[in-house]
Amino acid sequence: KNGVVIVGAGHAGVQAAASLREDGYDGPVILVSDENELPYHKPPLSKTFIKDGEAKPQPLRGEAFYSGSAIGYRPGIRVDRIDARGRRLELSGGGSLAFDRLILATGSRPRILPLPGSDLSGVVSLRSLADARLVRDLSARSEDVVILGGGFIGLEIAATLKAAGRKVTVVEAVDRLLGRAVAPVIASHVRQRLEATGVRILTGTTIARLEGENGRVSAAITASGERLPAQMVVIGIGVVPNVELAEAAGITTANGIRVDQQMRTSVPEILAIGDAASYRHWLTGGDVRLESVQNATDQARLAARTILGQADAFAAVPWFWSDIGDMKLQMVGLISGGDSHVVLGDVNENRFSIYHYAANRLLGIESVNRPGDHMLGRKMLGAGFSPTPQTVAAGPDGLKAAVA
Ligand code: FAD
Repeated sequence: KNGVVIVGAGHAGVQAAASLREDGYDGPVILVSDENELPYHKPPLSKTFIKDGEAKPQPLRGEAFYSGSAIGYRPGIRVDRIDARGRRLELSGGGSLAFDRLILATGSRPRILPLPGSDLSGVVSLRSLADARLVRDLSARSEDVVILGGGFIGLEIAATLKAAGRKVTVVEAVDRLLGRAVAPVIASHVRQRLEATGVRILTGTTIARLEGENGRVSAAITASGERLPAQMVVIGIGVVPNVELAEAAGITTANGIRVDQQMRTSVPEILAIGDAASYRHWLTGGDVRLESVQNATDQARLAARTILGQADAFAAVPWFWSDIGDMKLQMVGLISGGDSHVVLGDVNENRFSIYHYAANRLLGIESVNRPGDHMLGRKMLGAGFSPTPQTVAAGPDGLKAAVA
């Protein structure tokens, strides 16, 4: 018996290994990672970890977990090729590994920006622990930081480095922050608060090139010719899924490795989960590829059940959080296609939630510093319960009563 091999030891891969054991799988489980670390939490990397003096990454599981659960953790090894028919992997360094079932949890990588000067030292993007260490070291030596991209990661880094005393400029190509990931009120609220702390934010602006001295970046030049001094430039313009391995093996991809409701790819013995996987979402009927810890974790749990032959269809409620300075943003549900909303709380007090509706059905909730609304939302959407906008507007007490 060759057992299950998992490629990638991020949030998805490690949870899949853990769930296989928790659900009683007793064959071999091997977890292959091209990183050299004990698998770690990614979200703190753009929040607390890059603060001056913060030393330790947060492991996803302690070292004892892997030996104690008989999970063969193989760090520092890249899977170079999948022989889908022969059920065998080719590994960097020449070895090979046979499998009965394969889980691809290869995640995603930062989108690169083909910009003159992007190969200068001091130009970085943030995905791995190694990247975060570099960002922290560079930031300690930088007075001016330019961040390209006004998405979650870019803004989290902006807030953290601003609090650490750097001069921070965020440059975003479109005319608002946070893409279409959040409602415009949230995006403008985040902008106002960041600006109030002294972060400079340029929207509708692109960078034409980066300038350097002796091979180190020294400035970012905007398309209109403004020179923004920078000893560090962070590129945070989104990610692309790691699909190449699957593609080369003839597995179907479409903005990610395509999976069905049980996480199976077009080759049924091969599953895919997490940032790398795309699928039809049960809530909206639309095709998605979600980049969140929740999505990675819930898909991993389901993949383990699929392997054990207990597969139900994926029906987890999507949720996400981001900490940007003094704003805890939390989202639950998928809000695109909304046609009306109800606001609870007070924007000026930095504590409010937006309940999004389509045709009087609750789609999702976005909260700023109102974790109770978020938790209640997870409960309601998980139960398929949609309170009327009137019930929501009457406040959380009535809502809690309606849910109970
Ligand atoms: P990953 O965690 O990316 O893991 C994939 C692993 O596979 C990597 O280690 C990769 O090196 C490895 N790999 C790839 N190809 C191979 C190969 N051929 N051979 C061997 N190994 C391979 N989400 C939230 O919900 N909230 C947050 O606040 C939040 N903050 C974030 C902050 C940062 C800085 C980052 C980078 C992400 C954040 N996310 C957040 C997103 C979240 O971390 C991801 O959605 C999650 O990590 C996805 O898990 P994954 O296992 O699919 O991929």
